[in-house]
Amino acid sequence: MPLHAFQATVLENKKLTDDVIFLSLSAPKEFTFLAGQFVTVRIENSTEFRLKSYSVLNPPSEKGKIDLCIKIVDGGFASEVLRKAKKGHSFQVKGPLGHFVFEEDDQNKEIWLIGGGTGVAPLYSMLKEHLPHHKNKRFFLIFSLKEKRDLFLHQEFQQLAKKYANFTYIPTLTREKWKGATGRVQEHLPTNVENKTFYICGLKELVLETKEILMKKGVALKHVKSERYS
Ligand SMILES: Cc1cc2nc3c(=O)[nH]c(=O)nc-3n(C[C@H](O)[C@H](O)[C@H](O)COP(=O)(O)OP(=O)(O)OC[C@H]3O[C@@H](n4cnc5c(N)ncnc54)[C@H](O)[C@@H]3O)c2cc1C
Repeated sequence: MPLHAFQATVLENKKLTDDVIFLSLSAPKEFTFLAGQFVTVRIENSTEFRLKSYSVLNPPSEKGKIDLCIKIVDGGFASEVLRKAKKGHSFQVKGPLGHFVFEEDDQNKEIWLIGGGTGVAPLYSMLKEHLPHHKNKRFFLIFSLKEKRDLFLHQEFQQLAKKYANFTYIPTLTREKWKGATGRVQEHLPTNVENKTFYICGLKELVLETKEILMKKGVALKHVKSERYS
């Protein structure tokens, strides 16, 4: 995939939850990427600039845009700029970047996607892109959030689970009881890990702890792929 650098315009900026926004940016037609990859966005405030990385939410088949799903951290350098970015504002974007991509010729029959918070973004892109073409595999998504009010993309995942019988959606809340699963992702990992490939994305603790548990269960390193946000 060739690396592109371009000016991207904000097409939409809306709140998904109290602290997660959906930011849609324009992209040139020739911009292509693989599901799971990320872009860097040049963020400027009144005194300095920093390059920040964000996973692409939309599948590559939806062209001409880059949708992002961004956790707004109070006082965070990029968070404070992005939460206020208005339609028409332009950012310098570079991408695609990263190797956290779905392995097409993987022979394993089960694909376990594990995401914490906005770490679900590249997993959403992978599901949208690959579910229709891999009817012979079973896909599972463990999506970890603190409380019910933190849920986002919930209906989209529910609809995917309805549409594809080979996809199981497991949202799990760590700080609230509800009708669904509770507890950390680690509690919902399969006991038997044979013939399974794992894709993990989120903050450092979630990624490292999950990897460690999988290693202890005997998963080969080549069957665990991860992307760390911190
Ligand atoms: C490859 C890659 C892809 C990424 N993709 C995404 C993405 O799709 N969506 C996204 O929201 N972030 C993503 N991040 C994290 C993102 O780049 C920034 O670190 C994040 O937006 C915070 O930046 P900030 O300048 O607002 O805060 P900063 O001023 O840099 O830091 C504030 C604090 O926020 C914490 N923090 C950073 N990210 C998160 C998070 N997601 N949830 C909770 N706390 C956090 C940091 O540990 C730090 O303590 C990605 C990071 C990498 C390396």
